[in-house]
Amino acid sequence: MFFKLKYSIISSMKAKTIKELGEFGLIDFIKKHNTKPKSYHNVYLDIGDDCFSFNPHTKSKYIVTTDILIENVHFKRQWATAKQIGQKAIEVNVSDIASMGNTKPLYAFISLGMPKNTPTKFIKELFNSIKSTCNKYGVHLSGGDTVGAKDITISVTLMGICYDKPISRTGAKNGDLIFVTGTFGDSCAGLEILSKDKKSLKNYEKELIKKHLVPQARLKEANLISQNIKITSMTDSSDGLFKSIELLTENKGAVINMENIPLSKNLIKYTNNNFDKIYSYALFGGEEFELVFTINKKDENKLKKFLPGATCIGTINNGKVTYLQNGKTKNVKYNGYKHF
Ligand code: ADP
Ligand code: MG
Repeated sequence: MFFKLKYSIISSMKAKTIKELGEFGLIDFIKKHNTKPKSYHNVYLDIGDDCFSFNPHTKSKYIVTTDILIENVHFKRQWATAKQIGQKAIEVNVSDIASMGNTKPLYAFISLGMPKNTPTKFIKELFNSIKSTCNKYGVHLSGGDTVGAKDITISVTLMGICYDKPISRTGAKNGDLIFVTGTFGDSCAGLEILSKDKKSLKNYEKELIKKHLVPQARLKEANLISQNIKITSMTDSSDGLFKSIELLTENKGAVINMENIPLSKNLIKYTNNNFDKIYSYALFGGEEFELVFTINKKDENKLKKFLPGATCIGTINNGKVTYLQNGKTKNVKYNGYKHF
């Protein structure tokens, strides 16, 4: 317990800040507005007790992931609405679950740190958005913790099940093809545009920003491909495409054809079609939640049938990772965001 005033003293309707609403007022708000997805019949104890309790899904493997969003590191309140922050907090975790293959996310735990003067309106909007994004994926909001903090901190733990063997980052074999979903570089360009605090925005700039603020997890796509094709390794590109390639090629190599990396028209416009600029966004820009995965070459046509939007960007080998620009080797060195 951190906030001293209790819900019984000031009703949640009147409270203007979290200090007035209090920890219990907030928990009451969460409890009252919580929804119960289809998988809810497995729940034994819900929000309001010391622990959440559920009956095991015995035939499946449990998968658990956690991601933290911190104000002024991952988002700024003047750039993103509470709704967008809530959506992103859930989407980025669903993206981790998706990268395990044939999965279903089930239970979300939200630990929240915030300053005393945080407006109640902001918190309610944040939770409504967290809940509606959970609903989109059939996830049940199952618990969390609420504390006072200097900056808003949202830590989400998402638990799910994987119906088959979870797909790790390290299963790729020599000769496997590397595929990706979506396009790369938009989120990073969107963040750059936001940081310029421009007064008016062109349409393509608005779209790049949207990619940064409200990413969409590729859960449907991950389920579809892993149910139908043997995916030999997979990850999501949360730290950028270059990093994802590094993860999938640990102790291996690859040839990456840079001209095959999918790009949006918006990014090409934003960079005036400058090759080096485009690839600094597309390779090193983080907070992009696409799937990066490998398959055996014999499954290429099958993959194209199930996921026609996926793009082959290269091939795994036993050498080093080499980047080619129209057949010529390009010297590419890591240039992405470092937290420490
Ligand atoms: P404890 O003191 O035992 O940690 P709390 O008073 O913090 O319990 O929490 C009471 C109940 O409210 C628990 O079921 C907890 O999971 C839930 N809860 C607290 N904060 C949140 C939150 N931010 N989101 C979802 N559930 C929460
Ligand atoms: Mg607690």
